[in-house]
Amino acid sequence: MTFMLSNGEIHFLWWFIQGSIMSPSTRERLWKGWGMCERHAWGFMVMEAAFHQGYMHGAAILYEDLMCRAAHLFGARWPKAWRIRSGFREKGPCLLCEAGYGPQSRGAAGEKLVITGRDLTEIRQMARLTMQDWSGTVCGICIGQENGFRCRKHLIADLAMGKRPNLEAHARRVDDMATRLRTYACSFRYGFHGTSTRRDMAALIEAVGWCSGWKTLFDILDE
Ligand SMILES: [Zn+2]
Ligand SMILES: [Zn+2]
Repeated sequence: MTFMLSNGEIHFLWWFIQGSIMSPSTRERLWKGWGMCERHAWGFMVMEAAFHQGYMHGAAILYEDLMCRAAHLFGARWPKAWRIRSGFREKGPCLLCEAGYGPQSRGAAGEKLVITGRDLTEIRQMARLTMQDWSGTVCGICIGQENGFRCRKHLIADLAMGKRPNLEAHARRVDDMATRLRTYACSFRYGFHGTSTRRDMAALIEAVGWCSGWKTLFDILDE
């Protein structure tokens, strides 16, 4: 089913992208939840892309922050299963879910806001442009395949079931995402325009998929 945000979700996310994303208490809750739930993390991406015409500075800053934390938790060289299982678990609920927002929520968003908030053109364009760069990071479990890389949630699930995912490979990939996100986020600053590549931009898609799950992205792409 194609992805569509409710009026309430659009209203909340509108204020979120207008600046409440930067408030310290919100930021702390985003740390605790590794972003938001899968629906709302991708909803945020849809809104950021639609309202800022792909100028995704806010999302880049948030996910650079989260992936640096993730890379730090992996401990670069010697990732330990116990540290990963406890560190990567969510310590709090999704901001929107906690406030009661879901696919049926009513809200005060006006018609123009709703039309733009449901427009998937920009996010699809960005995701398709960078697909060859992020496709290798898609979690196999999220899309119903046993093989492949693992997102945060399914990495923890594998460890909880006593499986032995290649933690070193995951640590390297997460570290690489953090590095590319730093370049991407920096490229929005004055004097740094044009310093990031398509691969750096792809790291934002990878980070959202890694933190929150991948299936919704394919609903957005309608594939
Ligand atoms: Zn949520
Ligand atoms: Zn997954």
